[in-house]
Amino acid sequence: MITKDIQLPVKKSESGMVANVLEQFNKAANHIDLNPNIRRILNVTNNEIIIHFPVKMDNGNVEIFTGYRVQHNNALGPYKGGLRYHETVDIDAAKALAMWMTWKTSLAGLPYGGAKGGIKINPKLYSQSELERITRRFTYALGDNIGPEHDIPAPDVNTNAQTMAWIADTYMSTKSPAERSRYQHVVTGKPVGSGGIEGRDRSTGYGVFLTIKLWAEKRNVSLKGKRFIVQGFGNVGYWASHFMEQEGAILVGVQDAFASIYKPDGIEVKQLNAHIENHEGSVNLFPDAFAIEKDDFFGLECDILIPAALGNQITAENAHLIKAKLIAEGANGPTNVEGERILIENGIEIIPDILCNSGGVIGSYFEWLQNRNGELWHMDEVILKLEKVLKESFNKVYEYANKENVDMRTAAFCLAIQRIEKAYIQRGIFP
Ligand code: NAD
Repeated sequence: MITKDIQLPVKKSESGMVANVLEQFNKAANHIDLNPNIRRILNVTNNEIIIHFPVKMDNGNVEIFTGYRVQHNNALGPYKGGLRYHETVDIDAAKALAMWMTWKTSLAGLPYGGAKGGIKINPKLYSQSELERITRRFTYALGDNIGPEHDIPAPDVNTNAQTMAWIADTYMSTKSPAERSRYQHVVTGKPVGSGGIEGRDRSTGYGVFLTIKLWAEKRNVSLKGKRFIVQGFGNVGYWASHFMEQEGAILVGVQDAFASIYKPDGIEVKQLNAHIENHEGSVNLFPDAFAIEKDDFFGLECDILIPAALGNQITAENAHLIKAKLIAEGANGPTNVEGERILIENGIEIIPDILCNSGGVIGSYFEWLQNRNGELWHMDEVILKLEKVLKESFNKVYEYANKENVDMRTAAFCLAIQRIEKAYIQRGIFP
């Protein structure tokens, strides 16, 4: 019997994404009748670290930045999750994203828990050398709150392989010379050549594509000629589009932080990527495409929508406009609970984030193993192993959803929570 106090965990102060992830969690926890003590543990985050740190700017002035690292749960292994540099980063976002990481790593069967963090910053306002000093000083301030067997960050919005290289170098430089190389796996998503693994750059986008393909196979449909739109054309949006195009699907619309474009006869992915490199990172002014209003983007005619930008994008305000039959969540938390209700009523299916974009953390796990074991893995091996893990996850979720008559998100959460519940029951609660 579940008591009322456990069913209402959302504090008034926790709006936005935390409320969203807790509602998703509670829906699944109710479905599996989760042990009430374990529900209490999983309702809260283990550690929340907020750091204010000074950095000297190019002009000699000192600016103070605020960085976050939230560690939700480590019942299954070290905390794992990305670092985001964005103005929307705050404690609410870091908590929610850390919780999603716990469910994602558990669902994928990895020996990890969940964490997330970042810096509240618009990186476009800073030079490359300022960003390097900001990253290094944040890493130094985090100290041993991160570590290769404790909490392992990775790239997320506005961070990349270069950011990870700076973090690894800074963290390793704080260790004694004879020990430094033992700490290389403090972060994943590093450049190949500095401990990175081949294929990590594309692993999230490849996973997004693969889960769409697996979904299409279950529905006996081909992706050839299917029209898709993508919100966010960074690491995830680009690679997902690349693999969708290779399969014969047609990219017809893209939205990024600066512009929204529509080209009904198709946008060539390689050409758009080259355009972005010459247009300050934006899809704006792509030749022969219509520039459309931001709020008209989700209503574009298409078969598949891939949100691959920020959280809370598909809401009660715009869900009714969506014409796609399938939403593949490349981003974390792009659909809020009210938006999802409308989508389900309209018969739109969702491949949930904790499954759809889990290729990234699976690729990160391979990099971590590579560093830990002093190995060098090759692209074909990485992709093959990634496919195997993702197919297993997808099939588990799909079968559970059918057997239990629930949507795929609830199925994914149920499976993820059950794995953690089992670990707690086997181990008990100290003391
Ligand atoms: P990125 O920084 O490489 O790209 C982000 C893209 O989103 C850019 O094109 C940017 O212009 C766009 N964007 C930002 N704000 C926007 C807005 N308000 N409206 C529309 N577009 C906007 O980031 P990424 O690594 O591709 O991450 C994208 C999403 O995927 C995030 O939600 C992230 O948490 C999730 N994700 C990333 C990974 C990974 O391996 N990088 C893994 C799993 C999940």
